Amino acid sequence: MSQQRRVAIVTGSARGIGAAVAQRLAVDGNAVAVLDLDEAACAGTVDAIKAAGGEAIAVGANVADEESVAAAVEKIATELGAPTILVNNAGIIRDNMLFKMSVDDWDSVLAVHLRGAFLMARACQKHMVDAKFGRIVNLSSTSALGNRGQANYSAAKAGMQGFTKTLAIELGKFGVTANAIAPGFIETDMTAATAARVGVPYEDFKKGAASQIPVNRVGQPEDIAHTASFFASEGAGFVSGQVVYVAGGPKD
Ligand code: NAP
Repeated sequence: MSQQRRVAIVTGSARGIGAAVAQRLAVDGNAVAVLDLDEAACAGTVDAIKAAGGEAIAVGANVADEESVAAAVEKIATELGAPTILVNNAGIIRDNMLFKMSVDDWDSVLAVHLRGAFLMARACQKHMVDAKFGRIVNLSSTSALGNRGQANYSAAKAGMQGFTKTLAIELGKFGVTANAIAPGFIETDMTAATAARVGVPYEDFKKGAASQIPVNRVGQPEDIAHTASFFASEGAGFVSGQVVYVAGGPKD
């Protein structure tokens, strides 16, 4: 264990990037609340953390729902202690070209990513301010720079960057940092779903993506977990309001 035990919440951590981040933060010595829509779906991540000697609980909650978030954060504070590390990772895609994008496609994506990150950060900030320590890590995306078929998602992910910078400004004096990770192509169910939508076998889709990436491979959830671990660490207290593109090459 490399640092003092803190209580971390990772949203959307039943699978994918969130699961890897949760496992890594547990290895770093934190107690982790594995939060996802379906509490039962969190069991795999919780079991993996416990099997590795870590501490974790499963929490079912919808990050886009104010009451659900309040109940979840209260449960976590009671069962594990005050949450002072928050990773806003929960996300969905509802890709479509603008002319085919429904209002529901727009609203649901903005709700999970932006409203979700806002509700979670607002519910956790008091615990962080009281502790005079906090680490907020928000998942943005290279799609924040614009991506065909993702008007809703790119707007949400660009919004995450502005949200992050404002949290850094408001909360800095309380020992709370806020930073964003903007992943490129990461091998998860989300990118598998995109391949399915465009009708390309996932292996071919990954090969095509890797050929465009300077390090010549697609990303793995552990690549994002490593960056989240840095932002969440004690030593990163002077790094705040930053957006790090974790994409195997430069992006801006
Ligand atoms: P994923 O495999 O689809 O996992 C997302 C998780 O979030 C799922 O477990 C999902 O639960 C959960 N979730 C969805 N809506 C939720 C809600 N309202 N409340 C609580 N949990 C909710 O996605 P991923 O690829 O790991 O992506 C994780 C994050 O990284 C997302 O924010 C994504 O936008 C971002 N990102 C991913 C990539 C990539 O290439 N994969 C690139 C850039 C950014 P259900 O299974 O029940 O839906």
